[in-house]
Amino acid sequence: MTVKSSAFISNASIKDASRNQDNPGQLYIVATPIGNLHDFSPRAISTLQQVDLIAAEDTRHSGHLLKQHDINTHCIALHEHNERHSSQKLIQSIKQGKNIALISDAGTPLVSDPGYYLVKLAHEAGISVVPVPGPSAMITALCAAGLPTDRFCFEGFVPSKTTARKKFYETCQKEPRTLVFYETPHRIVASLTDLCAVLGEQRVVVLARELTKTFETIRNDTAGTLLEWVKADPNQQKGEIVLVIEGCKTPRSEEIAPETERILRLLLKELSLKQAVKLTVDITGEKKKTVYRVALNIEQR
Ligand code: SAM
Repeated sequence: MTVKSSAFISNASIKDASRNQDNPGQLYIVATPIGNLHDFSPRAISTLQQVDLIAAEDTRHSGHLLKQHDINTHCIALHEHNERHSSQKLIQSIKQGKNIALISDAGTPLVSDPGYYLVKLAHEAGISVVPVPGPSAMITALCAAGLPTDRFCFEGFVPSKTTARKKFYETCQKEPRTLVFYETPHRIVASLTDLCAVLGEQRVVVLARELTKTFETIRNDTAGTLLEWVKADPNQQKGEIVLVIEGCKTPRSEEIAPETERILRLLLKELSLKQAVKLTVDITGEKKKTVYRVALNIEQR
């Protein structure tokens, strides 16, 4: 690998300059665009131009992107079917002094993409892992969703079968953090239908589709309205999709006792909100303000 003096790869160059016969190479984890080619960072391009080898999820797919950016580095495949074997071979090459970059078809490697095993092996072998950050669909969707971003959880792909999917949404019911998922276009209607059934039609959901591309669509609405809109417009059932879901607004169980919530829910079925709150407070001695807030959230869903 030739060392080019470039501000964009300063980190990579410094480490590379210190390399000698006894030092292994490095493993670069390089993010690529999720749609818009201008999101390919100069540092990512320089790194890919300079490493000895690129491990790509799909060499043919990445070949087009690499050619467009004058990256002529040799590519080999590292995908879910050969990940273990290929990773072991790559680690051997790095130990022999080669610098290797890992890329995926789009976005950040390891985020619902292969690479975890390779990075784990690199750490075990004492090899430096150098991240070259860039786009990822989950962060791109989250930052534009209009939902709280201070705490969130990313759950990868929603299960494909209805039973598993419903169970999965059930596990999300009480999650207070914003939830981020990947979903496929041919399952979006079924998935939103299950989401409405389990989390309620009033839960706020953001559909982020074709991010950074020509038909980029970001819609923040209640789950029920979103489902009707997607059903009515086949265009919304195409392309790549991220779902961002509002966390559960009910205060966590630590904030009101489970028994208080049980009583409140029973009373809400029979009485007005005001009466149910008053009786719950009388019975349990719980704070009125908290019980009222929980009651409102229950009623909204
Ligand atoms: N590693 C990638 C990343 O960092 O975003 C994700 C790879 S995962 C196999 C592919 C999924 O990411 C797609 O099915 C879709 O859910 C989501 N995705 C990727 N690009 C997207 C885009 N431009 N717009 C919306 N979702 C996208």
